[in-house]
Amino acid sequence: MKQTICSQCRRTYPLNDTIEAFGVIFCDPCGRARFAKMSDIEIASANVVKRIDPTVCGRCRADFGDYELATIDGTPICESCAFMLRRPFPLKLKIAAAILAIVVAGTYARNFRFIYGYFQYKSAIRAIERGDFDRAASAYESAARNVPENARFDQSAKLYRGVALYRQKRMKEAIPFLKAGLIAEAPENQRTLAAVIEMCQMLDAFDKKDYDQFLNSARSLENIDRNDPLGAISVASALAAKYAQTGEERFKTDALERIARAKKLLPSTAMPKDQLEAFEDRILHRIDTREIIDPEEYLKRYPAGRPRRERSSNARSSEGPIPKSGSRSDSKGI
Ligand SMILES: [Zn+2]
Ligand SMILES: [Zn+2]
Repeated sequence: MKQTICSQCRRTYPLNDTIEAFGVIFCDPCGRARFAKMSDIEIASANVVKRIDPTVCGRCRADFGDYELATIDGTPICESCAFMLRRPFPLKLKIAAAILAIVVAGTYARNFRFIYGYFQYKSAIRAIERGDFDRAASAYESAARNVPENARFDQSAKLYRGVALYRQKRMKEAIPFLKAGLIAEAPENQRTLAAVIEMCQMLDAFDKKDYDQFLNSARSLENIDRNDPLGAISVASALAAKYAQTGEERFKTDALERIARAKKLLPSTAMPKDQLEAFEDRILHRIDTREIIDPEEYLKRYPAGRPRRERSSNARSSEGPIPKSGSRSDSKGI
């Protein structure tokens, strides 16, 4: 095995555990420290070269001391590995070549993993900025594989996988990912994320027509932030569903009370005014008809909004103006 000295910390390392960048030798920790602070452009200009020890087999990792091995596609390979790889059957050869490619890529990745991890991290950040959470999750997953000691990558991977699934309305699948991601979130984001998880649970319950669970989750959501109209209107929606299902007046009374409460609160980012009004329309429809339909179906039936004369439910609800049709594109609320 050949050894080399890191240009930064001056410690001695096996050659295979070092890289060359900017024309000098870096060990893994020093390279990591240096690359973490660099921009993408700087990294691209670093001319990173993985240093390969010709005395260690790239396949079985056997150490041949001072003896330099012959190479296959740039990878030092010992005699017995070469024999394995050169078996005369074309199919086996192909398989062997494929295995070698994986092994070599593995060697490469092991040494370059922190750089890959860093690239993936950068890529994830860009994806988040674009709102491409699916891509962000994949990039973080890849970063987590390359740099498993950075738990943050894995937690972020789970969080954004959860967000991506949530956006695809795959609520049930999203919940465990979001919960795993929640642990790692900064305290200031905990509440928002907890609300997203409750919303997932609510939407999942709605899909399953489990209106008791729907109501429970809506109440939990309301308790996360009692000043956000999202909570009150969600409880109203769930109560209206319970009314539609059972015909019990108390659910209707409570639902109308919650609508009035939601309208007294200041609109929020999660529940802006136009969405609140559209949401209210759908809840009143649910109460009036005792039919439970999802927002897509509602929009299909009433593309320009439900005519006011069809409403019978509630005097209080007619205080607000009928929302413009343009504001009805929302399908968030149920
Ligand atoms: Zn070093
Ligand atoms: Zn070997």
